[in-house]
Amino acid sequence: MDTQRPQVREQRLHEIVRIVESEGSVRIADLARRFGVSEMTVHRDLKELADRGLVQRVHGGAIAVRKTSTQTCVMCHSPIPNHTRVVIHLNDGSQRHACCPHCGLMYWATHGDEVEAMFVKDVLHQHIIDARVATYVVDSSVVVCCRPSVLAFYSREEAHRFQRGFGGRVLSFSPAVDNLSSPSTFAEDASWSSGL
Ligand SMILES: [Zn+2]
Ligand SMILES: [Zn+2]
Repeated sequence: MDTQRPQVREQRLHEIVRIVESEGSVRIADLARRFGVSEMTVHRDLKELADRGLVQRVHGGAIAVRKTSTQTCVMCHSPIPNHTRVVIHLNDGSQRHACCPHCGLMYWATHGDEVEAMFVKDVLHQHIIDARVATYVVDSSVVVCCRPSVLAFYSREEAHRFQRGFGGRVLSFSPAVDNLSSPSTFAEDASWSSGL
């Protein structure tokens, strides 16, 4: 059993991604020594990171996934900026990537029943978070990728603070999806049908 607190593990996962990205590759044995944990623990960490689309596992270790970022957005087919990448896990075990939360939420609106999980990056801290617990600022003046701009935040408070500076609407997951898939009805008519 892994008795470590979840924050400790998240911190280690974050650090592992940083090492893989700066060194290009890592070996399980080296990471175990570096973090003072068992190889089995590192093995589980790498599996988790591979599931989140952050590293690619190879025999005895992992390599950076950056080489595969020639891949394009599943919705708009543009190149995927690393800092706004959305990783979508489908029920059939395959993965799709979207360029930013705008396209991620649009994918959910149109293919939601095929999606098992979706991960977005917090725009301020670059942490990977479950798309369903994130808070979104929609249509602010800060456009990093697609329009209307959709930015993901882990902290609702930070989303509100951002909104006070840059405009837009602060929405949780489902309203953000509804808003994007039917932007005109959102303003005038609150009786849109839920896509769930
Ligand atoms: Zn896109
Ligand atoms: Zn985009």
